[in-house]
Amino acid sequence: MPTRVLAFLLCSCAIASAQTPVSSPTLQIPEAAQSGPGFDLETATRAYLNTFKPGEKARSDSYFEGGYWLILWDLLYASVISILLLETTLSARMRDWTERWTRLKPMATWLYWAQYILLTSLLGAPLSVYEGFLRERQYGLMNQTFADWMVDQLKALALGIFLGGLVVIVLFEIVRRLHRSWHIWAAGVTIVFLMIGALIGPVFIGPLFNKYTLLADPGIRDPILRLARQNGIPATNVYQVDASRQSNRISANVSGFLGTERITLNDNLLRRASPQAILAVMGHEMGHYVLNHVYKMIAFATILYAAFFALLRWSLEWSLGQWGPRWRIRDVGDPAVLPLAFLILGVLFFIATPIQNTLTRTQEYEADIFGINTSRQPDGFAEAALLLGEYRKLDPGKWEEMIFFDHPSGHTRIFSAMRWKAENQCLGTAVKPSCGAGY
Ligand SMILES: [Zn+2]
Repeated sequence: MPTRVLAFLLCSCAIASAQTPVSSPTLQIPEAAQSGPGFDLETATRAYLNTFKPGEKARSDSYFEGGYWLILWDLLYASVISILLLETTLSARMRDWTERWTRLKPMATWLYWAQYILLTSLLGAPLSVYEGFLRERQYGLMNQTFADWMVDQLKALALGIFLGGLVVIVLFEIVRRLHRSWHIWAAGVTIVFLMIGALIGPVFIGPLFNKYTLLADPGIRDPILRLARQNGIPATNVYQVDASRQSNRISANVSGFLGTERITLNDNLLRRASPQAILAVMGHEMGHYVLNHVYKMIAFATILYAAFFALLRWSLEWSLGQWGPRWRIRDVGDPAVLPLAFLILGVLFFIATPIQNTLTRTQEYEADIFGINTSRQPDGFAEAALLLGEYRKLDPGKWEEMIFFDHPSGHTRIFSAMRWKAENQCLGTAVKPSCGAGY
C-alpha cells in the first residue's frame, strides 16, 4: 500500500472529545400501550404501529419494496457489464496492456484490477447515482449534496483500488500456485481478509468518512457504560459519530473484536430518540457482542464461502472450456477472467440472498430479545423500531419478511417489546408487592 494512503488512514482516526450535550426528546407512549390491568398485547402493538400516518407508511413501504427490485436490477446491470467486457475481448486487451508495462505477475494483476474497478465504476455510475443518491434524496433520506456524496464515493473507490487490490493479488497468487486446491485456500484467505476488515474497519476505515468523538454527556454515557459493565463488555468510553452528514437514519453498534471493541452511537440516535430508546438500542447492540454474533457469522461465512468457491471453480473451468478462446482468456489464473468470476459470484450471492437475510435477521432478533431484557425499556425499543420504520417496511407479510428482511420488521420488534411489557408489568414501575414469586 502506498505510504501516503497509509498515513491518511492513520491520521484521520484521531479522536476529538469536546461537544455540547444534546437534549433528547421525551418518550411518548400511546394511550392504548400504557401499563395497567387492561394492557393488551395486540392492541398495544397496533397502537404503536398506528402512530405512523398513512402517508408516511406508504412512503416507507414504497422505498423498501423498491429495494427488492434493486437487488435484481443490480445483478442484471452488473452481469451486462461483465458480458460486455468478455464478449468485446476488452478484458483480454486490458490484460495485454498490463503485460506490456510489467513482467511481474502481482503488479500486472494489480494494474488489471485498477483498470477493471475504474471502468466498471464508470459504467455502473448511472445505476449507482440513482440508487445511492437520487433515490435517497427523493425519499428524503439524503443529507449530502451531490458533491459531498461524490467525494465519499471516490474515497470508497480509492480504498477499493488499494485494499481490494491487495486481496485480488493474493487470491490470484493462490489460484496460480495451488492448481488442485485453490478454491479451499481462496475461501480461507477471503475469510481472513473479512476478519481483518472487521478488525480495522471501525478504527481505520470509518473515520475516513465520518468524524468520531467521545460522547461527553454523562446523562447518556453513564447508563450505557453501566449497561456495558452489567454485560461484561470491556468498554470505558462511548463514541458518537456524525452520521447526520449523510442521512437522518438512527444507528449504533458495538464493533471490533480482539481488543478493538468500541461502543458507537450516531448523532441521529442522540438527537431523535428518547433516553429510553437510546438505552434499548444500546442493549440490542450489546446483545450482538455478548452472544458472540461476530464469531458465529464468521463460522457461517466460512461454510458459505467454501461452497461458493467450489462452485466458482467448477463454473469457471466449465465456462472457459466453452468460451475461453473466444474471450481470449488463457486460464483461471489469468486476471482477464475477473469479469467472469464476478458474474458467477453475483449470481451465487443473488440466489443466497434469502439465506443470508434469514441468518442475519435471526441474530438481530436474538439481539432484540437480549436488548429488551437487559435495558428493560420495551417502550423505548418500540420507539426505536418506529424510527427505523421510516425506511424499513413496518408491517410486511410473513414470507416477505423471511425473504427480504435482514432485520426484523417494525411489527415483529414492537410485538416482542409489548409481549415483554405485558409479561413484566411489575418491572416497569416502582416496586409492587405483586412482583413476588406468585406473579
Ligand atoms: Zn443489530
